[in-house]
Amino acid sequence: MTATTKDISREKSAELFEQAKTYFPGGVNSPVRAFKSVHGTPLFIDRGDKAHLWDADGNEFIDFCCSWGPLILGHNTPEIREAVASQLSKGLSFGAPTRLENELADLILSRNQKIDMIRFVSSGTEAVMSAIRLARGYTKRDKIVKFDGCYHGHSDSLLVKAGSGLVTFGETSSAGVPHAFAQETIVIALNDLPALERVFTDFKDEIAAVIIEGIPANNGLLIQDKDYLHFLSDITKRNGALLIMDEVITGFRLGFEGAAAYYDIQPDIITYGKIIGGGMPVGAYGASKELMHCISPDGAVYQAGTLSGNPVAMAAGIAALRLLARPGFYEALQQKTEGFVNQVRQLIQQNDYPMQITTVGCIFWIAFDTKGPSHRADQIDPASMTHYKVLHRELLNRGIYFGPSGYEVGFVSAAHTEEDLQKTAGAIEEALKVVFP
Ligand SMILES: *Cc1c(COP(=O)(O)O)cnc(C)c1O
Repeated sequence: MTATTKDISREKSAELFEQAKTYFPGGVNSPVRAFKSVHGTPLFIDRGDKAHLWDADGNEFIDFCCSWGPLILGHNTPEIREAVASQLSKGLSFGAPTRLENELADLILSRNQKIDMIRFVSSGTEAVMSAIRLARGYTKRDKIVKFDGCYHGHSDSLLVKAGSGLVTFGETSSAGVPHAFAQETIVIALNDLPALERVFTDFKDEIAAVIIEGIPANNGLLIQDKDYLHFLSDITKRNGALLIMDEVITGFRLGFEGAAAYYDIQPDIITYGKIIGGGMPVGAYGASKELMHCISPDGAVYQAGTLSGNPVAMAAGIAALRLLARPGFYEALQQKTEGFVNQVRQLIQQNDYPMQITTVGCIFWIAFDTKGPSHRADQIDPASMTHYKVLHRELLNRGIYFGPSGYEVGFVSAAHTEEDLQKTAGAIEEALKVVFP
């Protein structure tokens, strides 16, 4: 048996965190960074290079959080750094159109048959919020259907969780969201065909859109059946509702056409974020010409942004997507991820550990659950997260940085080397001996 390691030094990080707590609620500018679900206080990061991170105490880690998804190329990618640097000398923002917006749009639209036009915004939240408004404006209906376990950013309409019962109005999942807003959002379980049928019976002609993550990856990795997604696509069409596929995680991760192509689905509106900005704040939504012409200034659906299409962010996005567009990029990344996942899976099987690892593309998720892969949020046992807490700590102590919650997926980037992945598999092997002594 391997004994629990001595914890790495977090002196400087802890000091910075104490200071941060006097400036920011919870000491952070986004809640999950606060390490509430794992051991200790958050690590303050000093720098990153390729697949590696260094914290304020000088500890080095192999990073599988990858800034929560955007860094599919790893940290400090020379091409992105140089593109950003060369734009910096020309100015940071003009509030007027630039050639760079056309360039990024062309890179995307010429490789994506699922959308005809696009609009750039500054975050995934903004992209989804705008997509919902577009759907409501186009259909002249108000109700939205979302799924328990899908995250779509923090706009009011989507901070809603399931009530009790098969098909119910949502309940707000945040203080400050008006009850009346939650009344416009219906929440149902994933991968549940009867619930979907019920919702279109109960709210006939009221539903503007159904929104789903391309592959739900914000509450564990909840892989959906292809048949179910096709049913979802059909039932929305039959009822005059739109299908919004939120590809903020899956967009440019499963190829340029994302989960829509992976499942051979034609959504009405697709939202993007994360990878699209190469590490800079960019989001986007796209749809058919007909739908996109409903957006101002062409149409009556208002949406704007002072820093939308920001030239520095566009430059980063262009540099990133050019690298992703190289032949074989996605195949190589997936192969590498599969190799790693298989190694961990073998480890689990050889030791009969009550857990599993699932994967799609370069996403993986380690679940301390024995019932087989979950397809819906309510199949995940919250009690299993205590194991993740131990794993997380043991991995940090061995130089491996995973997301600070057992509900977070991990990402393998193009920058992860075989050596990084071997070292990680070795660390997982040791750490699991502590999790299951
Ligand atoms: C991250 C995420 C969002 C929110 O994007 P932000 O840039 O954090 O606002 C929305 N939808 C999905 C599927 C996401 O993963």
